Amino acid sequence: MVVSQDALDRVVAGNRTYAKKTAERDPEFFKTLAHGQSPEILWIGCADSRVPETTICDCQPGDIFVHRNIANCLHAQDLNASSVIEYATTHLKVKKIVVCGHTMCGGANAALGDADLGEALNTWLLPIREIRRRNKALLDTLPSDDARGNKLAELNVQHSLEVLRQIPTVNKAIRDRGLSLHGLIYDIAAGELTALEETKKGNGLWSASA
Ligand SMILES: [Zn+2]
Repeated sequence: MVVSQDALDRVVAGNRTYAKKTAERDPEFFKTLAHGQSPEILWIGCADSRVPETTICDCQPGDIFVHRNIANCLHAQDLNASSVIEYATTHLKVKKIVVCGHTMCGGANAALGDADLGEALNTWLLPIREIRRRNKALLDTLPSDDARGNKLAELNVQHSLEVLRQIPTVNKAIRDRGLSLHGLIYDIAAGELTALEETKKGNGLWSASA
């Protein structure tokens, strides 16, 4: 989608306002950030414009290292995600990795069916469509497409946590220094995050559901 000039003017003006207000409130803020980053959290989330992690978590620049893509999918062969995860885990040494799905996710909803969305999107959604197929019986018990899409978003988060645990650098960090993995769902209509039940087991470490 092409950003209209008005929209671009708006974001640039917004940046000027943000920079001015922030520097007035804390003159050292940007100077401190310029020295480096030491975020404690890696956030893997959806690219959806309604789920900007720093905003919805009331955080600041420097707080969260981020990887976002359509429907917060983790593919084993995704060099982009793998690089972010490796950097966050072995260099930044984040303490927690969060995978955050959300309600009304366009990617999850699209994965409820097999419509041809184009070559790139079809390929990207293959794993979440496979999750849908594996969980057909469960999803079929739900009363609406919204409910099925939201459940599929949850199942996708659980799957991503499973993929994460199988990454050697992540697994080593869990064992060696207590890195923990967490699944969250963001309710767009309420503006609230909820931890998936599984993430509360095992001292905060996600453990595989039955
Ligand atoms: Zn989404």
